[in-house]
Amino acid sequence: MIKLYDDIKVTKGVFCSTLIDLTRKCFYHLSNYNLELIQQGTNTPEDIICFLKQNELINPFESNISSFAPINVSYNNFNYPILETIFIEFELNHFSWFKNSFFSSLIDNCHISLVITSKLQMIEYKKLLSICSSILNVSPIDTIQISGFYLSNIVINDPRIILIEDKCYPLLKSELNFYREALVRHTYFNKNVFINNKGEIKNAPECPEKFGNINDLESIEELKEIISKPKFQKYWFVHKELCDVCKDCEFRHMCVDNRLPYQRQDGSWYHKTECNYNPYICKWKGEEGYQTLEECGVIVDENGFNINHKKIAAINTVLWEEETENA
Ligand code: SF4
Repeated sequence: MIKLYDDIKVTKGVFCSTLIDLTRKCFYHLSNYNLELIQQGTNTPEDIICFLKQNELINPFESNISSFAPINVSYNNFNYPILETIFIEFELNHFSWFKNSFFSSLIDNCHISLVITSKLQMIEYKKLLSICSSILNVSPIDTIQISGFYLSNIVINDPRIILIEDKCYPLLKSELNFYREALVRHTYFNKNVFINNKGEIKNAPECPEKFGNINDLESIEELKEIISKPKFQKYWFVHKELCDVCKDCEFRHMCVDNRLPYQRQDGSWYHKTECNYNPYICKWKGEEGYQTLEECGVIVDENGFNINHKKIAAINTVLWEEETENA
């Protein structure tokens, strides 16, 4: 039997698998056929052994050796703070609440991410940057990220203020803390709060539910109280193993997905829109051979979840002829 290192985690999808290297923060994508050859460990082709050795994925020792401490992947064993990221839609006119005193009791390890939704004048930028610097001076947070519209020639002298690109979902991450979270939580909605440009408080921009207005709150403690309510945390626990299609995807322990999950009468979860990745044929949108879920015979909606296995097998035979013939 071939033994992978403990920091290499295998996630098996319906057709392909990932080997996530939690220490090097990278991953390898391989077919289930090749994964099974590795797991069986007998007659494993030389090129696969070579790949495992070259990337230092295998433990050369057959027996358990105490110096290889097992990795604790239990999310509940760690005391994570209630709040991790505050996303704020920035608009100067609606920004009176965004003052130092509000953030001075912010929790350690919490991030602020400002989203600028309309073009600002240089003078407004300067005001924003000065507010950010003064918040950073009084709160325990290390950085404030800014995304959205910003001037290309803007100069930021405070290294704690970082301009970032808009994110494109799904995002893939291969880190230990993220992996722990992904096993039991929805990695996009979990521990987030979003404040829109009217001051309305939501879990995330995609959520329809509102939980009051930030302008009516006196302190961050009141915000934490809102976040602690089970209704606010409705989507936090809808991890990918619970969602149709995602539960069959090899990226489910690496994925940040901003689509809102919906619950059927029977308690199962699904999405109303398709992801850019189709795990039944292992193809991303735009890749040669890509087909939508519907084209592959996968129907997912409020009525249920149906997979036409014969149709998928036929598509995969054409797409991946060599490997499926060998399987
Ligand atoms: S189907 Fe898309 S959203 Fe779902 S786990 Fe895979 S990559 Fe992520």
